[in-house]
Amino acid sequence: MPESFGPGPWAVIASAAAMTAIVGVRYLTTSGLFAWITGRVRPGLYKGLGQQIGREIGWSLISAAIYGIPAGIVAWGWQDHGWTRIYTDADDYPLWWMPLSLLTYLILHDTWFYWTHRWMHLPGPFRIAHAVHHASRPPTAWAAMSFHPLEAVTGAVVIPALVFFVPIHVGVLGLVLLMMTVMGITNHMGWDIFPRRLVHSRAGHWLITASHHNRHHEFYRCNYGLYFRFWDHLCGTDKGLSAP
Ligand SMILES: [Zn+2]
Ligand SMILES: [Zn+2]
Repeated sequence: MPESFGPGPWAVIASAAAMTAIVGVRYLTTSGLFAWITGRVRPGLYKGLGQQIGREIGWSLISAAIYGIPAGIVAWGWQDHGWTRIYTDADDYPLWWMPLSLLTYLILHDTWFYWTHRWMHLPGPFRIAHAVHHASRPPTAWAAMSFHPLEAVTGAVVIPALVFFVPIHVGVLGLVLLMMTVMGITNHMGWDIFPRRLVHSRAGHWLITASHHNRHHEFYRCNYGLYFRFWDHLCGTDKGLSAP
């Protein structure tokens, strides 16, 4: 979170601009890192995908602004006006709330994502808002934020809205954002960075990794979740894992 920018309307604009820059640089460095790792571990996996990757980067940088603006406004309100339930003193809530708040954020985000994602697979919304994301076939590490601006808005509002209702320590919030970034990238990378033993374990039955989300990009109408397979299992939309 950026420091306070002082009074006046410029403060909120500066905060939104700073957050946009942070999200954009975060995207370029983390996606770049995982794309580089992919080149080492699976050489040739992205061969012939140069044009697609160019489009993925373009859409992702537009998404960075859409994610950065609400986050920057909320960060400004938090710093200057005491908005939100973000806390910095670890003693403000019991310690057990830290892991529980992490899980709460992930579950609520996953639930929002599952249902908005299913809605975007209806023919109208798909054409308008979601086809951009599915132009990534197969997806790459650069596709993590490759969304049409309308889809980006549905993703960008989640965490800035949740911090008004669900108390969270600023460090745990950082962890939520880190997990969101890393899982968004690794799920699109085209290969599983997690050990096969975990992916095919009992825990793996409930967790989403690349081989689960790859199947979504192959078959479209299945595997809609973000972090967990709970909603997919419950609604009968889980179609298992694609070949690694
Ligand atoms: Zn995807
Ligand atoms: Zn989809």
